[in-house]
Amino acid sequence: MSAVEQPHVLVVEDEPAQREVLAYNLEAEGFAVSRAGNGEEALLQIRENPPDIIVLDWMLPNVSGIEVCRQIKTRAETRDLPVIMLSARSEEVDRVRGLETGADDYVVKPYSVAELMARIRAQLRRTRPAAIGGQLTFEDIVLDGETHRVTRDGKPLKLGPTEFRLLSTFMEKPGRVWNREQLLDRVWGRDIYVDTRTVDVHIGRLRKALRQHGGADPLRTVRGAGYALG
Ligand code: CA
Repeated sequence: MSAVEQPHVLVVEDEPAQREVLAYNLEAEGFAVSRAGNGEEALLQIRENPPDIIVLDWMLPNVSGIEVCRQIKTRAETRDLPVIMLSARSEEVDRVRGLETGADDYVVKPYSVAELMARIRAQLRRTRPAAIGGQLTFEDIVLDGETHRVTRDGKPLKLGPTEFRLLSTFMEKPGRVWNREQLLDRVWGRDIYVDTRTVDVHIGRLRKALRQHGGADPLRTVRGAGYALG
């Protein structure tokens, strides 16, 4: 299975040893990990290669974790990106809460890896359910992220791996219009060169697969913009 289905975590931590331990643990749990050693680097990476979730240390040199979080949560493009703040002492957690940075969760250092993983999964269950083995439903279509099975009106559908990834992307955000570049990034990954017309080919296959037992075409072509589910 391609790596693009793995949830992508950005670890922002200035202490190299802590950063590496955390990245190592996340990779061992099946996450794709990018690393940033300071706030500026984190903001740059978020723009250039948006992660699915950020684990953000509170104490960073120059641009603090709080400022990074504030910037993420005030920009429309990144507002929905889950942020888990790490802080060294519980007093800091109180301060973080008081400052209302908009962080989605807080974990106090020293934290247990199991606890952090559980919190990361809890956030992703909301934003990327298919990627962590959850179940997605749209009208009569049910997609199981764990077994990779898709049914429509209770009948199993045969889908290729690319069509499965396309469908899970659409089902995570019904109604959202995805342009071809966004679908390429999400389904094929940024490092692979694929012509945007390839997207249209696989959309055609997905449409056909979704109607293999009949039913209406749930995918909408939005002229000049891209595709949407529903
Ligand atoms: Ca730090």
